[in-house]
Amino acid sequence: MLRRAGLGSAVVALLLSVVAVVPAQAVIPDNPHPPKTMSDTAVDKHLGYRKQTTCSPSAKPGAKALLKLLIDTWGGSSSGISRSCGSGRTSEHKEGRALDWRMNVKNKSQAARVQQALEWMTANNGEVAYRLGIMYIIWDQKIWSLYYAEMGWRKMEDRGSPTQNHKDHVHISLSWDGAMKATSWWTGVPLKTAHNSYWCGRKGKPACPKTIARSVDDIWPTEEMEEIEPPVFKPYPSTIPEIYGSPIVGETLGVVPGIWMEKGSKLRYQWYVTVKKGPGLHNPKFVKIDGATEPEYTLTKADVGKEFKVKVTAISPSGKKTSKTTNETTWAIKEVTEPAG
Ligand SMILES: [Zn+2]
Repeated sequence: MLRRAGLGSAVVALLLSVVAVVPAQAVIPDNPHPPKTMSDTAVDKHLGYRKQTTCSPSAKPGAKALLKLLIDTWGGSSSGISRSCGSGRTSEHKEGRALDWRMNVKNKSQAARVQQALEWMTANNGEVAYRLGIMYIIWDQKIWSLYYAEMGWRKMEDRGSPTQNHKDHVHISLSWDGAMKATSWWTGVPLKTAHNSYWCGRKGKPACPKTIARSVDDIWPTEEMEEIEPPVFKPYPSTIPEIYGSPIVGETLGVVPGIWMEKGSKLRYQWYVTVKKGPGLHNPKFVKIDGATEPEYTLTKADVGKEFKVKVTAISPSGKKTSKTTNETTWAIKEVTEPAG
């Protein structure tokens, strides 16, 4: 995947040079090259969002190396890594594992170069972000996070100044492994265990928790699981309809009807929601959602804590009606909480 991405940018660069109307400063640099030993088939284990909990502001090696890589490749300068522990709110800067890359959204050339860097990091479900140990990136009042990669770039609230809104710098927070330069971008070998602090598993401290996968029916977890895969949902033919999607406000749930209906049937949908909040309600009472008769349903704040099911009615070419209802979701809708940056 990485090699293909590299080829893509080479083709783009070639096209630009043929067109030759692009000013010199807009020439697109090559993406950084991964180590020669890099395996394409696995990414590093990652624990999702682990916020700052300690005071350890010295700049960590992975943060320094990534900031240097960005500046060497795309220009710009440093707005710093360390921040004193007494200042402001929770921030990975206070653990030396967040970096600020000075670039300005108002400068077209800088904005274009940042765009390329961000695409490099976030493409393919954040493959390079996994390899660098990135937790989240903030730029131009938008946030991308590895633990909600399927949501893409999300708008953030207006915090006031251009600096607070990250219009004059890119903020990148790293996992402890990214910060310690222990991830595969630097070592060539994907990490099998993720560390949730500088100390876990080192020097007699408690072992690091096992890395957990994020599944479509969970927010990035905090307990033990085994595999890590980007949260891509692949529906399969089923004898009852099924709900898919991420149970997060702003996301869209959908229904896979299944293979139980007669060929050529027309399908009708009706979404239902619980009266009470879950998760894990026993014999929950459901009510019809007025107007929710499409195969997709977009979640709103009013849905937080609720569970869903969908009735699918198939009308066969001869007019025969058959209905099947999904199982109720075992998860409840959640709201995303954004980190401070
Ligand atoms: Zn920052």
